[in-house]
Amino acid sequence: MVAPQFHHLAGRVWLCPGDPDPEAVQAGVAVVADERGSVMIDAGQSPAHAREIQAALAAAGLPEPRWLVYTHHHWDHVWGACAWPGVEIVGHETAVSLLRAEAARPWSHRYLHEQVRADPRLRPSFQARARAMASWEDFAILPPTRTFADVDELPVGVRLRHVGGGHAPDSAVVLVPDSGVMLLGDCFYPPPAHLRRPEDDLDLGLVRRLLDDTYQWYVSSHAEPMTVEQARSAVEGA
Ligand SMILES: [Zn+2]
Repeated sequence: MVAPQFHHLAGRVWLCPGDPDPEAVQAGVAVVADERGSVMIDAGQSPAHAREIQAALAAAGLPEPRWLVYTHHHWDHVWGACAWPGVEIVGHETAVSLLRAEAARPWSHRYLHEQVRADPRLRPSFQARARAMASWEDFAILPPTRTFADVDELPVGVRLRHVGGGHAPDSAVVLVPDSGVMLLGDCFYPPPAHLRRPEDDLDLGLVRRLLDDTYQWYVSSHAEPMTVEQARSAVEGA
């Protein structure tokens, strides 16, 4: 695959899409560029991915991040965090205990392999983790240090709103009203494969409730951005 690259979306918002190969389970990230300190939305799936994103930020001439926002606690959004020095990590309050529990697990390639043998439904996720992590040296899972219950607003005009939902209890959306962009993370996706029941599907009702004419763009972590018109027809066609 080609090296990650930032593309301008609208206003202050730039997107760095993940690997389009679904087996890579690589979430895209976004940055809200600001000379007072940018806001990174999600960390990359590994320290190596985070370093590629940092190179892409520098290549695009974007200011260094001061805040790192987690859309939710899943590995492909947070495992790169330990490679972002000097940022304040922002996330929903329920992410703290979820990530402390993840941080306590004895991560290694052997552990991933053993876990898949014990529960084959973990295979897509854990195989992707094994691919993403060349080395476990200096790896750490970092819980957020700035947390919120319902809403938060960072000093650079970026708003956070907890939405929860079936994909992850801590899912939050990131609102950039001056740029007309809403970042959805994975909030409307079904639960991860090993927790999914046959009846679980995309939660289009959640997207319908979030649509707001202030926002022209709706961005989820594993797909192309949608305009408000595209998002509206996607939820109405359901
Ligand atoms: Zn997720």
